[in-house]
Amino acid sequence: MMYDLIIVGAGPAGVSAAIYAARQKMNLLHVSKDMGGQIGKKAVDIENYPGFDKISGPDLIKTFEEQLKANKIEPILDEVLKIEKIQSIFKISTATGENYEAKTVIITTGGDPRPLEAEGEKEFIGKGVSYCALCDGPIFRDKTVAVIGGGNSGFETAGFLANYVKKIYVLEFSETAKADEQNQKVVLDTQKAEIITNAKIIKIQGGKFVNALYYQDRKTKEDKRIDVEGVFVEIGYSPATAFVKDLVEFSDRDEIVTDLETYATKTPGLFAAGDCNKGRYKQIITAAGEGAKAALAAYDYLQKNK
Ligand SMILES: Cc1cc2nc3c(=O)[nH]c(=O)nc-3n(C[C@H](O)[C@H](O)[C@H](O)COP(=O)(O)OP(=O)(O)OC[C@H]3O[C@@H](n4cnc5c(N)ncnc54)[C@H](O)[C@@H]3O)c2cc1C
Repeated sequence: MMYDLIIVGAGPAGVSAAIYAARQKMNLLHVSKDMGGQIGKKAVDIENYPGFDKISGPDLIKTFEEQLKANKIEPILDEVLKIEKIQSIFKISTATGENYEAKTVIITTGGDPRPLEAEGEKEFIGKGVSYCALCDGPIFRDKTVAVIGGGNSGFETAGFLANYVKKIYVLEFSETAKADEQNQKVVLDTQKAEIITNAKIIKIQGGKFVNALYYQDRKTKEDKRIDVEGVFVEIGYSPATAFVKDLVEFSDRDEIVTDLETYATKTPGLFAAGDCNKGRYKQIITAAGEGAKAALAAYDYLQKNK
């Protein structure tokens, strides 16, 4: 079957693209590794998405699913491994061995947590090292943990973990933490947090489970050890774009370069919306807005290339 459009990814950008495309009566296929994307990893309520005073990540995903259903869209859970363009048709192959064809494609694959690349990190994933406080936080009840990264995600994670843990160290590489003042205040008000700046992580150590984190104080050059049973890594995301590298131009951070009006890539008929592209201000609302625009641009492309 030849689709008008295949949307890859079901985070805010992909869901919004699907709703807009369905309303344009495009014959579409929606494929994604999971439902909801990064908002499923959100540790605290979302407070900056219009229409909701505050809403949890899982609850927002539920509303996405309901709206997709109302528009008769059922995402297929699968991973896209490769996209080729042969003449004017896109051919997509997935991890389960499926092959699909479409006239246009919108990539909305967002990003994955950026690893620290410190000694011991890989070894202790699932044994104290986590990239998802919402998923793993409750396991660390009454324990001492470290959060690596002093941006908003790091402080939100620390604020969530404060509901469970005894003590939290927040380690930031720079001279000062970059999180909004309000996020920092929430964490400091818990009286459980210690902020360590100028910290370069050296290694994570343990036996069966993590028991220590070593860092260098970048000012004094002194190596230091803190006793922790958990390490939450919150240092940003790498875009999930490798599978499409032959068809697009990349930024120096492997984000897809697009036209800012239409989200078109350098390959005609291929669009990229949300966190996976080079756009700034990566947020739920911006991803959703870009998804909507990309779907309308894909529709226009189809009209012009009938
Ligand atoms: C901890 C945390 C807290 C945040 N808090 C907020 C907040 O309060 N407010 C806010 O506005 N933003 C927040 N953000 C940012 C926001 O979540 C992202 O900007 C937004 O989710 C980006 O949406 P997206 O659809 O572009 O990508 P994503 O949400 O990353 O979704 C990508 C989708 O693509 C799928 N995918 C990836 N690769 C493939 C593949 N090869 N094949 C098939 N599917 C694939 C994924 O499974 C996923 O469904 C937060 C992010 C994090 C991590």
